[in-house]
Amino acid sequence: MDYLPIFIKLKDQPVLVVGGGAIAARKVSLLLRAGASVTLVAPKLCDSLAKQAGEGLVQHLPGMFAVDQLAGCVLVIAATDDADTNTQVYESARQRNIPVNVVDAPELCSFVLPSIIDRSPVMVAVSTGGASPTLGRLLRARLETIIPASYGRLAELARRFRQPVKDRFKSMAQRRRFWEEVIQGQVAELVYSNKDLQAEQLLQQAIDTADDSQLVKGEVYLVGAGPGDPDLLTFRALRLMQQADVVLYDRLVPPQILDLVRREADQIYVGKKRSFHAVRQEEINQLLIDLAKQGKRVLRLKGGDPFIFGRGGEEIAGLADEGIGFQVVPGVTAAAGCASYAGIPLTHRDYAQSVIFVTGQLQDGTVDLEWQTLVQPRQTVVVYMGLAGLKIICDKLIEHGVSPTMPAALVQQGTTRSQRVFTGTLDNLHQLVAENEVHAPTLLIIGEVVSLHDRLSWFNPNT
Ligand code: SAH
Repeated sequence: MDYLPIFIKLKDQPVLVVGGGAIAARKVSLLLRAGASVTLVAPKLCDSLAKQAGEGLVQHLPGMFAVDQLAGCVLVIAATDDADTNTQVYESARQRNIPVNVVDAPELCSFVLPSIIDRSPVMVAVSTGGASPTLGRLLRARLETIIPASYGRLAELARRFRQPVKDRFKSMAQRRRFWEEVIQGQVAELVYSNKDLQAEQLLQQAIDTADDSQLVKGEVYLVGAGPGDPDLLTFRALRLMQQADVVLYDRLVPPQILDLVRREADQIYVGKKRSFHAVRQEEINQLLIDLAKQGKRVLRLKGGDPFIFGRGGEEIAGLADEGIGFQVVPGVTAAAGCASYAGIPLTHRDYAQSVIFVTGQLQDGTVDLEWQTLVQPRQTVVVYMGLAGLKIICDKLIEHGVSPTMPAALVQQGTTRSQRVFTGTLDNLHQLVAENEVHAPTLLIIGEVVSLHDRLSWFNPNT
């Protein structure tokens, strides 16, 4: 992070603006909206600034910038077209530790002004750290369209009821849940449709009748996070991620996805690696029960889909026995994600009418699978956890009658920017893997459909 976003209170605070043109005028109007007490230094002012100075809205010091004008200022903005003046403002402000921004000169800024979406008191700020103001503006335009204009009124309503809600509900967890229900429910809808009085009455009624015990009921969300690309999360996954109190996550869940979990949620790593479990499965199951019993909303975030080689069933069985509420959210499983991003359709009328998912995990140094079922014609075989046993799997398939030249692909870190796809045949894929540094997780796809990769591959990160 190059800049820490903060919102600064400028009401009645002295701020210096150096420059008298149209750009300075824009900054001045922003500062006035924030209630700052603005002093303007410039030999001459554009019309709008001259008018504001005439009306006493800003104080004008005619002439050039002088260092002593900084005395007492909490912020300085320079918007002149004279490079020497800009540099002088920057250096003198830095010496006095006064935050300074020189318009259009990122190297002369100790703070940047974001693009803002103003739904006062709700304020959204977007910054690209000076990298691309255009990108910032486009993003702002998108946010403008999705944030209802009435958010400001909703926030005002919440502000008025903040203390009564605090008095009524003793624990912070109860208050948070109460507000979440209000803000996502009917009260908010009434505000959006301009029925503020009814909204207020309904909110008062909710405070009077809320069931305290319901407000602290623990629940578990078993959520599939998909194969890696955060864009592949479902809406429901994202919503539950945003309201969890604690998250238990695996090694397969990348940091970009964890970043989308509510900031205040405690994070517990229960990572799994082949034959090494940071926290044993029974302990995870128990932890889910214990946390839910404490009234927490527990997010169990798993790579791919929780019910496909994810032990999701085992994790919720204990919850069901204990009568603890839970929901299961499907995710894009590695087979679907890797196949799509590698341009390998798992079924295809010309090549495969069925697809089978198996786990290739080694047990006692070998792979134990129903080989007869796997060698059926016109069938695609997808092997999860198949890297360590790759050679054994390929050899066994050949031994059970599959042609040694059957196409096979290994997809490494599918759907992510580190995705690599190795294609070969059953008898040479292991060599390819030995020659290249291959990293887990990898998915093995075997079948005629793999031959389509050359024509259909579309996702080529970093090229
Ligand atoms: N529940 C998960 C699978 C967990 S088993 C799902 O539905 O996808 C872990 C195995 O999944 C890994 O060993 C690997 O074979 C596969 N896998 C998961 N994510 C992957 C990815 N991004 N790229 C390749 N393989 C992946």
